[in-house]
Amino acid sequence: MQPLACRSMTRPRPKPSLRPATLCVHAGHRASATTREVVAPIAQTSTFLLDDESYAQMLSGRVDEALIYTRIRNPTLDAAQRRIAALEGAEACLVFASGMAAIHSSVMSLVRSGSRIGAHKELYGSTWDLLANFLPPLGIETVFADLNDEAERSRALRGGATLVYCESISNPTMSVADVPNIARATHAAGAKLLVDATFATPILQRPLELGADLVVHSATKYLAGHSDLIGGAACGSAAGMRGVFRWLQLGGGCMDPHAAFLLDRGLKTLPLRMRAHVENAGRLAARLAAHARVTEVLYPGLATHASHARAREVLAGAGGMLSLVVAGGDASALRFVRALRLALEASSLGGVETLVSLPFNTSHVKLSAAERAAAGIPPGLVRVSVGIEDVEDLIEDFEQALDAVA
Ligand code: PLP
Repeated sequence: MQPLACRSMTRPRPKPSLRPATLCVHAGHRASATTREVVAPIAQTSTFLLDDESYAQMLSGRVDEALIYTRIRNPTLDAAQRRIAALEGAEACLVFASGMAAIHSSVMSLVRSGSRIGAHKELYGSTWDLLANFLPPLGIETVFADLNDEAERSRALRGGATLVYCESISNPTMSVADVPNIARATHAAGAKLLVDATFATPILQRPLELGADLVVHSATKYLAGHSDLIGGAACGSAAGMRGVFRWLQLGGGCMDPHAAFLLDRGLKTLPLRMRAHVENAGRLAARLAAHARVTEVLYPGLATHASHARAREVLAGAGGMLSLVVAGGDASALRFVRALRLALEASSLGGVETLVSLPFNTSHVKLSAAERAAAGIPPGLVRVSVGIEDVEDLIEDFEQALDAVA
């Protein structure tokens, strides 16, 4: 049985040797001989006409190949899936209603009651909630550890972990995962590695090539890139994605065709956008680091960042996310954010517009000040998703807001 995404991958597609910018433009859609559209149309339909082939597919257990119902398969979703699979160098990709739906389906495909998970200690809040609070009552326990540290990694894997989970770049400290070494240790222990590469995107890192077994994305962020949809994606081998497909089908977190169309359109400009995000983030980080009102800038592209050397090894660019620490603590940080004229105060990231948020009143609001400090989040920390505006305008905006705090 081939999962849905694999079947779509078997259609004519550009050679894998093509470079990412070309794959972004050409990998998803091939015009049909009858309709001849250059752009994959929106198949805004819940259901499809049944024929002898669909009955044969269903009767022989090849449900995931059948074009019968959009929760199972849809041509617009197929186009986005082919494009993402090509970019990740994956045999198969599935898109989801949200990043959390992709994460939940992927995690559940690799665990059973009684399973153990080893997870990096810094994770997106809802992923942490899933592992720390939602799964234990189902008999699935997670050990949180610093997976970049060898001794800590062994502790996380001890006791028969079946799944190891980390993020390419963690929020909001921007620490970079040592994916190759984590993958080696994971496989030596007989477990599978799942990497959330939302912050890196396939333009900066292809985790499957570094040894990951599955890669997930919040497609809401850079993949779609315009802050106008919620979506997720999971990629891996055809065999690995079979279990994920079961969770998609039965959990029901399928992407809507209109969102898939927007995602597929966004993907075409991903390399251009990532280049601008990374360049702007690097220039803004350097300027902020020199500002008297800023006590620290967390950006892997800066030589002062703890992950700087690793970022150079495992990423093709330091990313578009940075955090700055405003002198004077959270109250000053809030005043700074409210003084910004261009950058918008909003959660989420990866869109063309610069967004700022404060972990103390958003993502990490449930943690005490001491817990935030232990998680590497000092008072005054502001997370910035650097957009693709003219960087000089961004620098002027941030500097005038910092001066306003003073
Ligand atoms: N993974 C990371 C790294 C995220 O930042 C987010 C959301 O912010 C998610 C997963 C969840 O994605 P979604 O909000 O699309 O469900």
